[in-house]
Amino acid sequence: MASVAEPELLSFNEARCLAEEYAAKLSSTEPEMLPLLESSGLVLAEDLLADRDFPPFPRSTRDGFAVRSADLSTLPARLRCVGEIKAGATIEQSAISIGRGEAAEIMTGAPVPAGADAVVMVEHTERSGDVVTVQRSVGSGENVVPLGSEASKGSVMVARGTRVTHATVAIAAAIGRPEVAAYRRPRVAILATGDELVDINLRPGANEIRNSNSYSLAAQVSAAGGDPMIMPVARDNAGELSVLLRKGLEADLLLVTGGVSMGKYDLVEPVLASFEARIFFTGVRIQPGKPVVFGEAKSGEKLTPFLGLPGNPVSTMVTFQLFARPLLDALGGSKPQPLPFAQAGLKSDLTIKPGLTRFLPAKLSGTHVRPEVELVRWQGSGDLMAVSGSNCYIVVPPDRERFAAGEAITILLF
Ligand code: AMP
Ligand code: MG
Repeated sequence: MASVAEPELLSFNEARCLAEEYAAKLSSTEPEMLPLLESSGLVLAEDLLADRDFPPFPRSTRDGFAVRSADLSTLPARLRCVGEIKAGATIEQSAISIGRGEAAEIMTGAPVPAGADAVVMVEHTERSGDVVTVQRSVGSGENVVPLGSEASKGSVMVARGTRVTHATVAIAAAIGRPEVAAYRRPRVAILATGDELVDINLRPGANEIRNSNSYSLAAQVSAAGGDPMIMPVARDNAGELSVLLRKGLEADLLLVTGGVSMGKYDLVEPVLASFEARIFFTGVRIQPGKPVVFGEAKSGEKLTPFLGLPGNPVSTMVTFQLFARPLLDALGGSKPQPLPFAQAGLKSDLTIKPGLTRFLPAKLSGTHVRPEVELVRWQGSGDLMAVSGSNCYIVVPPDRERFAAGEAITILLF
């Protein structure tokens, strides 16, 4: 008798590409002006332009003496010290000019005077009264950052679409921008489902558990530049789920956790069908997170992307990172960013059943010369303790069974 085969699930790569391609077509939220520090973690909605040349003067990178490098062709060289120039030089100091056989004492961050083309470090000099003896030669330009060499006035220092980091904040500060334009944080509705769940300020009954997923997701959403909205828990009942899903679809992105597996009370997909949902994938060959669902559905005229994340706490976390991040990037005004994969040496042998791409909680340690990684003990995708004691996932491809200690293996950083 012919059996009906389970539809072929997508591979991790196929599912991730699909999410990235979908994300690239989303339009971003609208820009708003924000105090500089409030823009941290959001995406720039304007180019940050240099308001002057950077550096605005030829800058000394050392404490020492500004010299004409040609004067140091025979060593030791004896030069006449004609003055001192500190960072934030006075008018008199910046009027100093260096002639043949002359030098000026100079500090890090000070403007290199006219006539000088290099700075010799104080460690290689000896001073006695007005005479400075130099023990080492310097090449022309050594220890000097030329005027405008980092950025010229009017040039783009940080492009629109860049996520604001501490380095971006430094540039905005350096160009005198106490406010910048950034895209509004995308609003992300978070809907946990399950009859066993109680809110965290209630005492669970004997067979109940607290709703931790809504909170871990909210933390992940905030860290990804989104604005999380935790909704009331939906019972495993189509009517209640339908009301809450409709409300959740008003957000920029809807994340549902739980209720997407094969159980009798996994109602998310069937109920979403009544919102003209288009499902892009349902199930991916990964562990944890295999039942993950991705699609879009209508709230009024608006199409909203949604992800149904499996309810096991580690599955929820992993599938958020794998599939929700690119959507948040795009809604928030950035290109979908690549996942932060790296490599590290395995601390001990690893044997794993092939077939799925696995993301296993692990601990990265070791030194910069030899980063090492090992699995943390875990009881499967419900084990919160395992992730909280880990700092990355070991990524096992679906076609490998055995890895030897010492071998380089891919990891995914949080
Ligand atoms: P489900 O995906 O609904 O089949 O749930 C899978 C497992 O995750 C079950 O053991 C649930 O009790 C648990 N779970 C589901 N939702 C949550 C949640 N919001 N917080 C913590 N655990 C959950
Ligand atoms: Mg459930």
